[in-house]
Amino acid sequence: MIITLKDGSKKEYDGARSIFEIAQDISEGLARAATAAEVNGEVKDLRTVIEDDCELSILTANDPKGLAALRHTTSHVLAEAVKRLYPNAKLAIGPSIDTGFYYDFESDSFSREDLDAIEKEMKKIIKEGAKLERFELPREKAIAFMEEKGEPYKVELIRDLPEDAIISFYSQGEFTDLCAGPHLMSTKGIKAFKLTSSSGAYWRGNEKNKMLARIYGTAFAKKDELNEHLKQMEEAKKRDHNKLGRDMELFATVDVIGQGLPLLMPKGASMIQTMQRWIEDEEERRGYMRTKTPLMAKKDLYVISDHWDHYKEGMFVLGDEEKEGEEVFALRPMTCPFQYYVYKQSPKSYRDLPCRYGETSTLFRNEDSGEMHGLTRVRQFTISEGHLVVRPDQVEDEFRGCVDLAKYCLETLGLEGDVTYELSLADPDNMDKYLGNRELWDEVENNMRQILNHIGIKYTEVTGEAAFYGPKLDIQAKNVYGKQDTMITIQLDMFLAERFDMTFVDKDGEKKRPYIIHRTSIGCYERTLAWLIEKYAGKFPTWLCPEQVRILPISEKFHDYGAKVLEKLRANGIKATMDERAEKIGYKIREARLAKLPYMLVVGAQEEEQNVVAVRSRFLGDEGQKNLDEFIDAICKEIRTKEIRQEMTEEGK
Ligand SMILES: [Zn+2]
Ligand SMILES: [Zn+2]
Repeated sequence: MIITLKDGSKKEYDGARSIFEIAQDISEGLARAATAAEVNGEVKDLRTVIEDDCELSILTANDPKGLAALRHTTSHVLAEAVKRLYPNAKLAIGPSIDTGFYYDFESDSFSREDLDAIEKEMKKIIKEGAKLERFELPREKAIAFMEEKGEPYKVELIRDLPEDAIISFYSQGEFTDLCAGPHLMSTKGIKAFKLTSSSGAYWRGNEKNKMLARIYGTAFAKKDELNEHLKQMEEAKKRDHNKLGRDMELFATVDVIGQGLPLLMPKGASMIQTMQRWIEDEEERRGYMRTKTPLMAKKDLYVISDHWDHYKEGMFVLGDEEKEGEEVFALRPMTCPFQYYVYKQSPKSYRDLPCRYGETSTLFRNEDSGEMHGLTRVRQFTISEGHLVVRPDQVEDEFRGCVDLAKYCLETLGLEGDVTYELSLADPDNMDKYLGNRELWDEVENNMRQILNHIGIKYTEVTGEAAFYGPKLDIQAKNVYGKQDTMITIQLDMFLAERFDMTFVDKDGEKKRPYIIHRTSIGCYERTLAWLIEKYAGKFPTWLCPEQVRILPISEKFHDYGAKVLEKLRANGIKATMDERAEKIGYKIREARLAKLPYMLVVGAQEEEQNVVAVRSRFLGDEGQKNLDEFIDAICKEIRTKEIRQEMTEEGK
């Protein structure tokens, strides 16, 4: 057989060889570093025996897929160590993830001291250097094997595997796990790892199931890579919106209100209000008409839109479907059908199109509580939603207009450098998930590619991520921990106009179907706020700040002058407060700095006499005395132009 390697060179063998043997044949060094392989583009275990011609790429921890194998092996070592120290712990699952790996156990929760002890045991296991061996068992034997070991979660996992699944196990020393692999050849290959945290997690992410104890960890090929990563994580923690946003009193959550239902505190609400006013005005400037439609509708609406069939689990349903004569409602998961009925209120001609409808929409999605996270995974959120009803000949221009608006939002917020564009396409092997047939999809997907190429944005294609009614352009960003989320989406829809019988009368007098573009401009406000918290580590551009200026009187004697300054600032639309506490001025300054305020105005005898303010800013430090009107002019301009001023470096303070 002939093996074609990554660099194009070829190896010839006269009989079957395992991938590991081929790696050894290439070089001992490669065999030592190898963690997995790709055979004809498919990730395989090093133990896989190759019998036919193929393209082979040996993976090391320098490759994301190779690194995943290293981390997954480390999760097995973690499980072995936990079983040694806590023989009663039950094993659930232990995959590799973007930032490392985790393992879930049925056990008491783990403290940091516990993690340290487990790490120590893991080092021992790695030093013992047991080889990992793979074996397969038929279904009934596999179940009996895990029953005998007293691992009920593994038994459940095996029972859920499809009838024809190959059921494989990996052993190292006394430890065996149900696992599809791939894995390193020996635990000795783990050179640098760390257990990072522990938390609770529901079995299968479902709150109806038992709460398990999860241990997170990470592993790298080399010690210095690990240390670099841990340093980054420390930095990330300081920016984590779920912590910083609470510390800064932007939002809070309350158990009795519910998970995924954050309270926006006055400061967070102020920021969202600022963005909302800006976006609504901007959309109006761009020819949008605003709608305000109900937060719920009868079930009948969702039956027409197909949500009742495709998305019922994701909706909050009000009323008992089983009860005779009961009217069943559901909270809306999106605004589309409501705006279609706005369109349908009067007959439309080709001259009426495009119709651009925008709405600041509050939406509800009934997601698993196990998935809830800060402001980014929530059950109720508000989104800058919009639908454009367009003639086929207007699709490109209108789509371009949506992209242009999204880019304008990102640029203004200073986020444009942090995003990537994804074109989400249908899964060709699963077309029954979508409306319409493959030919129609080919046409629309090609249309979409052409438009994007004309606009000139760089994008990657992702199959299987399209909406059921059409392809999407998703604008993606990563959070501080590297986890990716969709921030803005623009979708082309060629089916729902038919479903809702939307038409327009064309030039030739014929009734025709419009296209619909579903889009967001700034996206979901809560998620955007989270993104801004992490991007700016709480030091927001002045125009977004809930408190732009704080007046700090040196003593009570100057409260009257301070109040005059405050009134003038507020009269000019500046968000200002005054610190009237009987604290020392140094203390007040320190607190204002910790609150990450853009400006402090210190007022005392000199300032009052000369009608000036002593300005301290986040950008230049002590700016000295300024005439009050001059200061107001400058900050108003900064707010109006949404300027993002350069922050002072640490040394400059
Ligand atoms: Zn495994
Ligand atoms: Zn929509």
